[in-house]
Amino acid sequence: MIHVVTITVEQWGIRVPAREGETTRRALIDEGALDLTLKVRRDGDVLLLPLLDWREGAEQCLFEQSPGRVVVPRHELVGGIAIMQERDEVGAQKILASRPSLHTIVYAIGEVSGEYRTREFEVLAGAPTTRTEVIEYGHRFHVDLAAAYFSARLSSERQRILQQTGRNEAVLDMFAGVGPFAITLAARAKFVVASDLNPWAVGLMLENIFQNRTPNVLPMLADARRLAGIFPWQFDRIVMNLPLSGTEFLPDAFRLCRAGGTIHFYSLVAAEGEHGECIRGLGGEVIAERVVRSYSPGQWHAVYDVKVRD
Ligand code: SAM
Repeated sequence: MIHVVTITVEQWGIRVPAREGETTRRALIDEGALDLTLKVRRDGDVLLLPLLDWREGAEQCLFEQSPGRVVVPRHELVGGIAIMQERDEVGAQKILASRPSLHTIVYAIGEVSGEYRTREFEVLAGAPTTRTEVIEYGHRFHVDLAAAYFSARLSSERQRILQQTGRNEAVLDMFAGVGPFAITLAARAKFVVASDLNPWAVGLMLENIFQNRTPNVLPMLADARRLAGIFPWQFDRIVMNLPLSGTEFLPDAFRLCRAGGTIHFYSLVAAEGEHGECIRGLGGEVIAERVVRSYSPGQWHAVYDVKVRD
């Protein structure tokens, strides 16, 4: 008996109406932008076309490897770096050869850990670095996977919050990392205070503010525990992306947010509505609760959009 093994990989994909699929597919091939190692996916009247790199409208999707094409092991892309979950040096060389945009293939040694939410990597192929540049919705972010947290999977979340952000808003990102939320929201907000306690993250954030020309982002090296004692004013919108221990900071976020303002609170949850009671107790109303992605069996990375009651 022959067993056919299907390998799925995560890659940028773009949705097009099925009737325009063939024209777009040909145009992407001509541009050298279609990932020919992956199969096009159909989703009702829409086709999902796999891309070699990010472009306007792209989202992270799962694709099956095309039979007959070079089969590469499963990996996740962050800019020019491919992250493997297994130490497979032969596979790493195959991945490196499969895409001209890649410069380094790494193996993720452990889980994301510690206060800075970083992880250790071993370089398996290519240039010996964990630094790369990520292009996301027209922004360019310098990241260093070993020094500061960055997740390309949150790109659509950043766009979702951008759509809700009003002109003239004062925004606070309490756990800003290298600044992807802050720099994205700066396109609409009056200003964004972007704070983090990891000095490497704040250093990269400064590079990113400079590179993306966003002078209305104010970087800050600070422990979020101190913010409520520092600012004499309140913010219109607060982003709290520290899913494992963000709950501890919710009372401070309520102190820092004006009545009628919004808090986007990210958390790992095991059940729907898990934080509802706590949020209501602090004076908030849950406007929306959605799953961002699954984290482990029985646990989800969820976001609560919270309105602070008048
Ligand atoms: N918002 C960024 C993003 O989406 O890429 C980073 C999110 S990462 C999950 C959480 C960040 O919180 C890390 O950069 C970490 O250094 C920072 N952090 C952890 N504890 C903190 C604290 N007490 N005060 C300020 N920042 C903290």
